[in-house]
Amino acid sequence: MALTRRSFLLRSGVTAAGLIGSHSWAERLNAQAVSDNTFFAQIDSVSIPLRDWSGFTVFGGSADVLAPRTEGDVVEIVRHCRQQNRQCRVVGRRTSWNTKWYGDGDTLMLSTAHLDALSFDQDAGTVTCGPGVLLETIHREAWARGLTLSNAPAPPWVTIGGAVSTGSHGSLMGGSLSSRLTRCRLVVADGSVVEMKSDHPYMDAARISLGMLGVMTQLTLQLDPAYRLKLVQQPMATADWRQALVDSGPMSFVHASTRDPASTLFKVVREASVPPLSDEVVTGEDAHGQFWMSGPAHLVVMNFQPPSPTIAGSEWAVPIELFSSVMEAFQSLDLSLPSMVWLKKVMGESSLLASGNDPQKVYVECGAYHDVAGSQNPRKIVEMVRKVEALMLAYGGRPHLSKLISMTSGEMLKVYPALTQFQEIRRQLDPQNMFYTQRLAKLFG
Ligand SMILES: Cc1cc2nc3c(=O)[nH]c(=O)nc-3n(C[C@H](O)[C@H](O)[C@H](O)COP(=O)(O)OP(=O)(O)OC[C@H]3O[C@@H](n4cnc5c(N)ncnc54)[C@H](O)[C@@H]3O)c2cc1C
Repeated sequence: MALTRRSFLLRSGVTAAGLIGSHSWAERLNAQAVSDNTFFAQIDSVSIPLRDWSGFTVFGGSADVLAPRTEGDVVEIVRHCRQQNRQCRVVGRRTSWNTKWYGDGDTLMLSTAHLDALSFDQDAGTVTCGPGVLLETIHREAWARGLTLSNAPAPPWVTIGGAVSTGSHGSLMGGSLSSRLTRCRLVVADGSVVEMKSDHPYMDAARISLGMLGVMTQLTLQLDPAYRLKLVQQPMATADWRQALVDSGPMSFVHASTRDPASTLFKVVREASVPPLSDEVVTGEDAHGQFWMSGPAHLVVMNFQPPSPTIAGSEWAVPIELFSSVMEAFQSLDLSLPSMVWLKKVMGESSLLASGNDPQKVYVECGAYHDVAGSQNPRKIVEMVRKVEALMLAYGGRPHLSKLISMTSGEMLKVYPALTQFQEIRRQLDPQNMFYTQRLAKLFG
């Protein structure tokens, strides 16, 4: 009989730590993971690399962590943690750069990889799924039913649980993906399951919570009737960024130069078409030699594949009326910026930890990234984040929670006044800080 990696480890008693090297945190996590896996013999495990997606932060090696298949499994794990006075962290695809999803020392980590149930309510136009379902699966299955998940971030290879919990977003179609959440089920620290609808008093805390309130085991999101988009790539004057971003279609975005007068606009417009909609993607060049692409919305603007080499950086949401000052500073100050930054637009939303907090307002989401190029914590990225962050804070900016953040908890509280309310709810649901590690406390106070 072929042995799985997990059964090999259990039978041989060899800890993964022995196989992977000497990093003490990784060793402790692995030693603990083997004993957890023995205790929860009925619950599967998966191997996860102990690093963020880009290699910006590397803890060393990998660990076999629990991968529950049902909400009952999650409840069992959380109850065990409560009895043992252990901390618990949940992870999806671990693409978040800020690595707040890691635990400390003997934290029990669980993966949502097998929480992958998926169903649609065609009449209500909703999807209900486990947190481990990948966005690409939802996009594909929704399209087959004449529906589209708007507001999703560009990469389709991340989990819905991770994308919602970090407030990941697409563009002006609304707020972040979290604003599409209409119901969820959350396993909280006492092992009970809290079911929330949009009007639940804790819902705006649960929407974007980085796993600090518990483990989401089921999410329901509102979809739109399926639509196709056309994207045209065209040169533009950097000075025209506002007009280009706001006036040229619902999901247009800008690759803006931080030094030159010339930038690139990715102008995205809805295609007039009648059902049944073709799922074909067509590309071409217009008479001016400009590249264009037309197809299902998710394949045109929510289909960004992993770049190689990998990148790391940060993103901030700044009220659009203040962003001209940011653009001027880009041109005049030495901020260690890459030559180009990404500008998108989002609407504010009600979630307590949303980067855009006024539902009536438009925000510019500005992302600055550098290649990681094989080195951990590359200096140029650390310096860039520090300098740009200071500028963004001066203009009412808030960081994207899945990206690099160098702020102190005091600075976080200043720009997120609703953090106080979030913390009250968190303490009610998790008085013993089961889901709240030192890493998280360092940022959120
Ligand atoms: C190349 C690249 C491009 C990106 N582009 C965009 C973009 O266009 N727009 C954008 O907004 N973002 C973007 N992101 C950010 C991305 O959407 C987030 O990193 C998101 O978290 C991805 O999900 P994940 O499965 O990797 O989550 P993870 O990184 O594994 O987890 C993220 C957080 O969610 C929590 N979490 C996960 N599952 C649950 C659960 N079941 N219950 C409670 N908490 C949970 C974790 O504890 C963690 O704190 C990009 C990231 C990359 C690497």
